[in-house]
Amino acid sequence: MVKIWREFERFRGKKEPCLTAIITTKGCRWRKCRMCSYWLESRNLGDEAIKEQVDIIFDRIDTKILKIFTSGSFFDEDEIPGQIRKYIAERAKEIGLEKIIVESRPEFISEEKLSDFEGLELEVGIGLESANDRIREICVNKGFSFSDFLSAAEKIRRMGFRVKCYLLLKPPYLSEMEAIRDVLESIEKVSHVADVVSINLTNVQKGTIVEKLWERKLYRPPWLWSAVEVIRKARGDMEIICDPVAGGKARGPHNCGRCDREFVSALKLFSVTQDRSVLNLDCECRYLWEKYLELEEIARIPLF
Ligand code: SF4
Ligand SMILES: [Zn+2]
Repeated sequence: MVKIWREFERFRGKKEPCLTAIITTKGCRWRKCRMCSYWLESRNLGDEAIKEQVDIIFDRIDTKILKIFTSGSFFDEDEIPGQIRKYIAERAKEIGLEKIIVESRPEFISEEKLSDFEGLELEVGIGLESANDRIREICVNKGFSFSDFLSAAEKIRRMGFRVKCYLLLKPPYLSEMEAIRDVLESIEKVSHVADVVSINLTNVQKGTIVEKLWERKLYRPPWLWSAVEVIRKARGDMEIICDPVAGGKARGPHNCGRCDREFVSALKLFSVTQDRSVLNLDCECRYLWEKYLELEEIARIPLF
């Protein structure tokens, strides 16, 4: 039920191993974002079954950092009841865990729930996707506003915890150029409240509107060049991470096929080192990407 694997995280400026766990819960309550079908993995489990999964994680952990995700919201009572969240915080303190990373929609984040984690380094990821309310609403159908995000982020910061802001590169209905511009503008607008920005490159998930558009050739996942472009142009004082899920596949972010693996590795390496020089990449397809950006702008009527 619980999925567990090891990966690397950037922690206090260094690359550190991290245990990542995805607990099966009732899943996201919202379930309406146009690119997401994570909630398909959900199951209506009782509290005991959730606690069993938590115990498995703490039996396996041998890293300083734990990412504990739910394919929904960690702070939603319906997914993780309060007493299990408290239990997680206690066990984390017992074993001297140095950092715990969770995710939640903003409406579930409260000072009271956050206070269980006092004494630990907590990082809360929020899927803002775009700082532009119209893009978030029309293209993503996210169901919360930029000010909802800001007030949750401020609560997290006031408690001394870290905010991770997820931004979506290329939601449906945006051109590649608009998508690049939107992420760059969003980074600027969240820079005063986010400790780290995670750029999520849209991939085509089953049963979504994005999949329907993709099947009709009305949507192409972002070019990996676009992710590199965003990072190169983004302000230098913002920590940025990018792990291209399904990178190089038809349903994931991709370039020409020949250079995809190199680009995915470079983006992952950049995420743990923050060294922009690892993104000095080249391939013949750069020209194609540039033409794609240019021609798409000519051929379409801008929505925003
Ligand atoms: S992106 Fe997040 S909020 Fe939207 S449906 Fe998926 S899990 Fe829920
Ligand atoms: Zn290429």
